[in-house]
This record gives sequence, structure tokens and C-alpha cells, in this order.
Amino acid sequence: MTWRAEVLTLFPEMFPGPLGQSLAGRALADGVWSLRTHDIRAHGLGRHRAVDDTPFGGGAGMVMRPDVLDAALSAVMASVPQGTPVVYPTPRGRLLRQADVRRYAGGTGVVVLCGRYEGIDERLLEARAIEQVSIGDYVLSGGEPAAMVMLDACVRLLPGVMGSALSGEEESFSDGLLEYPLYTRPETWEGRSVPDILLSGHHAAIARWRHAASEMATRQRRPDLWAVHAGRAGRAGDDLP
Ligand code: SAM
Repeated sequence: MTWRAEVLTLFPEMFPGPLGQSLAGRALADGVWSLRTHDIRAHGLGRHRAVDDTPFGGGAGMVMRPDVLDAALSAVMASVPQGTPVVYPTPRGRLLRQADVRRYAGGTGVVVLCGRYEGIDERLLEARAIEQVSIGDYVLSGGEPAAMVMLDACVRLLPGVMGSALSGEEESFSDGLLEYPLYTRPETWEGRSVPDILLSGHHAAIARWRHAASEMATRQRRPDLWAVHAGRAGRAGDDLP
């Protein structure tokens, strides 16, 4: 069954953008997934098709209206399988993790609601049980690039999209760790050599080296992930070099 991405946006012309290229683009052309955009403006109010208004309580910028967004969302929800998650990318959301991406990719698809201006009226998010996810601790000008990031991460996990199924199993976050460092030809470049162990042909020893390197990178660069991993493994992590 085709995995469905339904994107509500004020800028439908931004899509497919990068999602029309490379891995995701080929999968789109092959019908592994489908992408439909829905113009929120079509549900705007009045002659100017207004979708936003000033924030109650004052402050800068504009807020997207719940009634307008609800009309746009209801039209989409009528045509997607029940239980399809609705996701609002926002810096106020919990951080998007590979586990979320796996969950979305394992379902029938996602509905993504792209914010603009200062964001969306909170009542819509509460009333429609919309998942709020952030793609990082920085502020974009709109939800569209965040939607593309999310969808790209999902699509590459769909069956048949990645060349080798193993490439998904060993990459960063698959086991709670960052990936080990990668090397290819030439064996020596600018006086820097590939670690000998990788040229040894000893698969078990290479696997051990890679695992230790994954642990080291995670401990040094992502203490938050390391704390979870070390906790799960029931150790403090002090045994590492
Ligand atoms: N006023 C908001 C705040 O301070 O949290 C920022 C609004 S931002 C200018 C406009 C839209 O961009 C948001 O509604 C959201 O859809 C999207 N956006 C911005 N940064 C994002 C992030 N880090 N992750 C996901 N979406 C983001």
C-alpha cells in the first residue's frame, strides 16, 4: 500500500522541492509513497482569504486561526485512513527522534500541518490531538522545510527505498548510538591513513572496533544519548578508553 503524505501549507508550490530528487524522488515516481499538498489559503476568510489574526494579549506577529485550519484539516482527514497521525512541526514540540520517524514510516502515512507567522492557535492543537515535534533548537521561518526533513527521514525507511536493508540497521540512532566513523579510498589521504583494523578483513574485530568507536563518539558528542544508552546497558561507561 502506498504510504501517504498529506501536507497543509500556505506555500504548496514549495513541494516536492528536494523530496522530488534522489532517493525520495525515485520512490515518489515509483509510487512507494504519495505526496499531496493542500492550500490552507483556500479555506481563508473573506475577500482576502485571511488565515491569521493578531495575538490576544498583544505581542509581535500574527497567529494562524483555529477555525480556518480546522476547515482545511477536516477536508484532508475525510480522505485519510483512520488513525493517521497529524503532526505540527514547531520549535515548541518535543524533539523529533528516529523512533518517531520509525513509527510514522510504519503506519499508513502522516498529515503535516505547516505553520507560518508566529504559529498556530493552541486550541486547535489541543482539540485535534495534534502531535507537536521540533526538528531542532532553532527557529525556521515556516514549517515547510521541517516537513521536508520529517518526510525525507520517513520515506527512506519505507520498504524497498534504501538499497540495502542493512544500511538502515547500522546507522546513527538505530541502536541509540551515533554511527562509527566511515572511510573509503584512497587508503592514505593528506598523510592520514585508514585505521589498520578496517583493512584486516577480520569481521568480528571490525565490528568490535566500530561498536567502541560508536560508543566513544556518542559519549563525547551526545552526552544525552550516552546517558540513556549507558543506563540501558547497566553501566557507567567508565570502561571506555
Ligand atoms: N513563534 C514561534 C516560536 O517562537 O516558537 C516560531 C514560529 S516560526 C517563525 C513559524 C513556523 O515555522 C512554526 O509555526 C513552525 O511550523 C515552523 N518551525 C520553525 N522552527 C521550527 C523547528 N525548529 N522545528 C519545526 N518547525 C519549526
